[in-house]
Amino acid sequence: MEDFLIALVIIAFVLFNLSRSKLLVMAIKGLFMTKDERQRLDTFYNKHFIFYKQLPEKSKSRFLYRTHSILQEIRILGRHGFTVTPEVRQFVVGSMVQLTLGLEFYTLPRFKTVLIYPDSFLSPFTGKRHDGEVNPRGIVVLSWKRFCKGYEDSTDALNLGLHEMSHALMLTIKYSNRKDNNIDKRLNAVLNLAEIERKNVIDNPNHLFREYAGLNAAEFFAVSVENFFEKPKEFKAELPALYHQLVKLLNQDPSLL
Ligand SMILES: [Zn+2]
Repeated sequence: MEDFLIALVIIAFVLFNLSRSKLLVMAIKGLFMTKDERQRLDTFYNKHFIFYKQLPEKSKSRFLYRTHSILQEIRILGRHGFTVTPEVRQFVVGSMVQLTLGLEFYTLPRFKTVLIYPDSFLSPFTGKRHDGEVNPRGIVVLSWKRFCKGYEDSTDALNLGLHEMSHALMLTIKYSNRKDNNIDKRLNAVLNLAEIERKNVIDNPNHLFREYAGLNAAEFFAVSVENFFEKPKEFKAELPALYHQLVKLLNQDPSLL
């Protein structure tokens, strides 16, 4: 009887401490998505995310589970009078989940704050007007006008949300100790190919990727991701080696959707 009581106290102690773990709370909240919530998110993403609409049922469930989980804890704040509605939150988190759907550690853990301006904003770092910015301290900054444009046309390889989330993913891989299946090595394989292709972007004005990709490795990576999701078939046909490395890195293949 005494052993039983001791075991009970230990179990209670362990459960109490686990319940205080933020990750566990988030996982539990994510698990318990109500039918209504699931329906609401499914309707929203079917309407606004062609990527989601094309996913097989199993991947749709994963997408919804992940968006629901992240929505519980992300901080999204409006700037210059911008009002953050539930739809705004769903858009931003949808962009994060689209990029990281194939990855095991998917929440871009450093990036828990997103600031949204109605339009382009003056960057305190460069003194210039920007549409998006990623601060390595864990903040993503977006112009809402440009973000929406990205999802209005999902075949022009211009998507601010995916672009900025790609910067966030690169920084996450660089700074995180949790290596999702050698993700750092997979990123390096992409960057090695990117360095060769970047010169072709600079030399060839008719390159599949827009000129901005020639700027540096980080911008090349972000523009590659925009093409990966919005022009997957052209990308795969024109730059098969780079496309293949991105499939391996992100563990998903939009050309098959
Ligand atoms: Zn960029």
